[in-house]
Amino acid sequence: MVRMEAITRHYRVGGQTIAALDGVGFEVPKGQFTAIVGPSGSGKSTLLNMLGCLDRPDSGRYLLDDVDVSTFDDERASDFRNRRIGFVFQSFHLLPRLSVLENVLLPRRFLRGDGGSLEERAHTLLERMGLGQRLEHRPGQLSGGQMQRVAIARALLMQPALLLADEPTGNLDSKSAADVLALIDEVHADGQTVVLVTHDADVAARAQRQITLRDGRIEHDSAA
Ligand code: ADP
Ligand code: ADP
Repeated sequence: MVRMEAITRHYRVGGQTIAALDGVGFEVPKGQFTAIVGPSGSGKSTLLNMLGCLDRPDSGRYLLDDVDVSTFDDERASDFRNRRIGFVFQSFHLLPRLSVLENVLLPRRFLRGDGGSLEERAHTLLERMGLGQRLEHRPGQLSGGQMQRVAIARALLMQPALLLADEPTGNLDSKSAADVLALIDEVHADGQTVVLVTHDADVAARAQRQITLRDGRIEHDSAA
């Protein structure tokens, strides 16, 4: 369902060309939970941006659900991203003036038609995250772990083809981190395809599969 074929992405810095990604290819079957690991500078963020349709390769192809998204212009890419990809970040990225429920419903603005049933889905997701009593709270009234659970509920609202998580436990204490990882496990157990980027080997070990990047190439793939 995720298919990356010989992806390259170069940056020109001064007179130099850096290959942030250099012939990266892999497939993630539907429902798999994959971790991307590797040292700083190995290309993880570049790959995550590519997977999230925030960036285009210089060469190679990226297919998501059989759609070749690597040829999309910016407008089509953002439309596709808003509907089909859920993001979870290290720093939560919740809007402080909106309630928990309003934050989870934010992706509704990308729907052209009726988003009525999304309200019910938002309630269900927040119940499941143990936040059913917090719907009207502001993010600032929650713990870090609770904020990240709100962010996960928001990322799942549109039933994305792909859930992308970028160091989702990086700002959390170990107890909250364990809760958030358990929640990601549950979401995966429900059939959600998940790709998580981390430099933390313990976090990566929670995934079914680890892809290790080094210098823009796949150094090791536990599924290979
Ligand atoms: P990681 O997320 O694993 O730390 P990155 O994808 O951020 O790795 O970076 C991979 C390589 O590409 C590094 O050498 C980095 O310096 C370079 N790079 C990333 N983004 C840019 C950019 N916007 N401009 C120039 N070089 C970049
Ligand atoms: P964090 O500290 O939580 O990782 P950052 O502010 O560093 O958050 O951003 C993380 C990533 O989010 C960056 O790689 C950036 O390219 C990406 N990003 C920026 N804008 C958007 C957006 N509108 N939707 C999804 N991802 C985005």
